[in-house]
Amino acid sequence: MSDSLDKIAGFTGLSRSDLLEIAAAAKANSVRLAGCKRHRFVGGKATLGAKYDCLECGGRADNGYVYGYIAGYEAAGGVADDIWPGYRDVRSPGA
Ligand SMILES: [Zn+2]
Repeated sequence: MSDSLDKIAGFTGLSRSDLLEIAAAAKANSVRLAGCKRHRFVGGKATLGAKYDCLECGGRADNGYVYGYIAGYEAAGGVADDIWPGYRDVRSPGA
């Protein structure tokens, strides 16, 4: 019996076990990120397309996630530098 995982495996050339491993890692990362009390990243100049590891939970997030998180944190009254040291030095408001 063939399922959608077999179709993806055929399309990508990855094995079912590789796909299951990738899915499990993505789910574990989502659980780490969702369970973090407050993300904190190394900071400094951001690199387009890079991913960043939270120093608190170990979850890995891309630029869009980090920027959105910081925007929400600031909207709730937080200071961006608490999440990403030097954030305002490397990213001007609205940029
Ligand atoms: Zn975190």
